[in-house]
Amino acid sequence: MPAKTHLFRCLQDNFGVLVHDPATGATAAIDAPEAAPVEAALQATGWRLSDILVTHHHADHTGGIAELKKRHNCRVTAPRQEAARIPAVDATVDDGDNAKVGGLAARVIATPGHTAGHIAYWFDAEKLAFVGDTLFSIGCGRVIEGTAPMMWASLLKLRALPDDTQIYCGHEYTLANIRFALTIEPDNKALRARADEARRQVDAGKPTIPTTIGAEKEANVFLRADVPAVAAAVGLAGEPAAKVFAEVRERKNRS
Ligand SMILES: [Zn+2]
Repeated sequence: MPAKTHLFRCLQDNFGVLVHDPATGATAAIDAPEAAPVEAALQATGWRLSDILVTHHHADHTGGIAELKKRHNCRVTAPRQEAARIPAVDATVDDGDNAKVGGLAARVIATPGHTAGHIAYWFDAEKLAFVGDTLFSIGCGRVIEGTAPMMWASLLKLRALPDDTQIYCGHEYTLANIRFALTIEPDNKALRARADEARRQVDAGKPTIPTTIGAEKEANVFLRADVPAVAAAVGLAGEPAAKVFAEVRERKNRS
């Protein structure tokens, strides 16, 4: 039986998401921005919380963990490098490790840059990846604890996942990301189509995720730093992709 997901909003612009294994009944929350929306999602689905899989230590991804742990006695799995900054951790994982949710298996991918120990969870058999604040739809996370080359390398790991992998990220930032991306690639047809689609989704009160790796490759300028036209657009024709990425990220920070 394939995994089921349930997506919901938390805090100002965070996403929460549950992953459910129908065969065993196990259910994981990917991060826990705050407890109440997770509880509401459990009520709505009738699922029982068995796990919390944490992508990174920021408070808007971990604020609900202590309360959920107390109520559900769920297992909290966290990135090894950041475990000391995350409450109630039971298990730590690092690049290449497996994380289980009932019968579902996720491979852990280290994606440092936004934070030094940030990880993503890739359920390869389910074609699902939970990428926290590393990759957003048409965007990427701010490079806070790492360096731009480190973040670019992390994005390349995610870009290498199969095109039909569904991507769940930590924030609803898509429209702002699109506004910025159009300043670099105004003629990118996939990006323009995505702009129309995202506008329709938001106007209908719907989330703009999940997205897919295939769609992001075509339209997300942060995954396209090695496309010659993108390098040229930021005045860095012929320069290394990591340098182009750093410039695009800088421009977004200033936008
Ligand atoms: Zn963060």
